[in-house]
Amino acid sequence: MTERTSPCVGDTVYVALGSNLGDRDAHLAAARTALAELPGTKIIAMSDVEETAPLGPAGQGPYLNQMVAMQTSIDPLTLLDHLHAIERSRGRERRERWGARTLDLDIVCYGARQIAESRLAVPHPELAHREFWRRELAQAAARIAQPPTAGQS
Ligand code: ATP
Ligand code: MG
Ligand code: MG
Repeated sequence: MTERTSPCVGDTVYVALGSNLGDRDAHLAAARTALAELPGTKIIAMSDVEETAPLGPAGQGPYLNQMVAMQTSIDPLTLLDHLHAIERSRGRERRERWGARTLDLDIVCYGARQIAESRLAVPHPELAHREFWRRELAQAAARIAQPPTAGQS
């Protein structure tokens, strides 16, 4: 595999939103609201919403995807628990791997942290293989407002 620089830098947390079942726009909107309401958490930028072809078992509809950039004081495993609770609140059922779902929330980056726990791998191992994630992450990163440099007029 070719070496590439990781887009997971600094302390920005990137969460990937995905939906291919039911009212996809409503699921993504509810996820954005729920993320913004998490304690100690602020959404600092977002990518556009994109439609992508489904991965996994055949017969699924297309996805809507979006990358959200956040600052949060929630630790990674607790954040994962919150994401699962938000998924459940939108009726997510886990059946077959990569099957159709109302809402999927994945931690793509947790700042520059490298995590290899049984229930949490960060940076997300699929980041290298999902071009749409890298595109959306770059778009969100470019939209993070930069604080003015001291001395700049
Ligand atoms: P993929 O992770 O390939 O996109 P998926 O999102 O469909 O697949 P899920 O069924 O949502 O997979 O999650 C399966 C398990 O993956 C979760 O229970 C969670 O513990 C684990 N997991 C490991 N790393 C992560 C991560 N970075 N973000 C979210 N879940 C993760
Ligand atoms: Mg996923
Ligand atoms: Mg998931």
